Amino acid sequence: MTVPTIKLNDGTSIPQFGLGVWQVPEDETEQVVSQALEVGYRHIDTAQMYQNEAGVGAALKTAGLAREDVYVTTKLNNSQHDPAKAKASLERSLLLLGLDHVDLFLIHWPLPTQYDGTYAKTWEALVGLREAGLTTSIGVSNFQPDHLDKIVAETGVAPAVNQIEVHPYFANEAARSATLAHGAKVESWSPLGQGGGELTDAVVAEIASAHGKSPAQVLLRWQIDRGDIVFPKSVRRERLEENLAIFDFELSAEQVAALAALDKGESGRSGPNPDTFDWIPSF
Ligand code: NAD
Repeated sequence: MTVPTIKLNDGTSIPQFGLGVWQVPEDETEQVVSQALEVGYRHIDTAQMYQNEAGVGAALKTAGLAREDVYVTTKLNNSQHDPAKAKASLERSLLLLGLDHVDLFLIHWPLPTQYDGTYAKTWEALVGLREAGLTTSIGVSNFQPDHLDKIVAETGVAPAVNQIEVHPYFANEAARSATLAHGAKVESWSPLGQGGGELTDAVVAEIASAHGKSPAQVLLRWQIDRGDIVFPKSVRRERLEENLAIFDFELSAEQVAALAALDKGESGRSGPNPDTFDWIPSF
């Protein structure tokens, strides 16, 4: 399977498909990521708050692939959301990952109820980390339209990506179109709705059977066709293979429209609303 690459607004390219490792326990991460790399994955999405960067690093080391052949993203811990802490926190990630730079570093959450006056300053710090070569690209995650407007107005620098929750039950159209309007790409998190109702939805099942594909493959293909970047999570080899096998079929315009019509608005969210999410871990 050849995974397409997407051109970002800073001139670099990102594989449109990869593996997300949220909720993969640290002691299983090396084995899961190794399996994914064996199956052909070349893009890993982790975060400081997932507490499994060392496992990702161990798998990368064992695989021995050329550095430029694997795309690695990590994200700033909500507790390090401070221009003075961002550099040390990325350096710690690099140590755990065994890398001298990541490909993409994101502000994980804006936390506007905690950091309304400072998240644009944290963004400015990320610009410095990119200039210092600790990360090739920089972006944000869970930024609402007004958060995007604010960081661009204060720094003049648009993020390369905004990683936001998107799947048919929660199309998140306002954040998605604001992201694209800033010239950034959408990375859609929880593309399988965290293994929830969409996988057994009758509309999805009918489209899947028409193509001889699984519901998960249909959900992923829909997002690939919209130009978004996806990294479904699985710890099982057969599902890793299944999720990657989405580049040999096409959805019709009617099928795309039928999937878009499943949007439930706010009630379709599987995660927290970024406007009110305020969790700051103790680590
Ligand atoms: P997901 O939508 O990828 O769903 C994963 C779950 O779907 C699995 O645990 C499994 O139960 C099921 N599944 C996987 N493959 C399947 C298949 N082929 N058939 C049937 N069921 C299958 O959920 P996710 O982990 O929440 O999202 C993916 C990635 O997005 C994360 O690992 C993480 O990297 C990223 N993410 C980022 C944020 C953020 O705030 N930036 C939040 C959530 C997730």
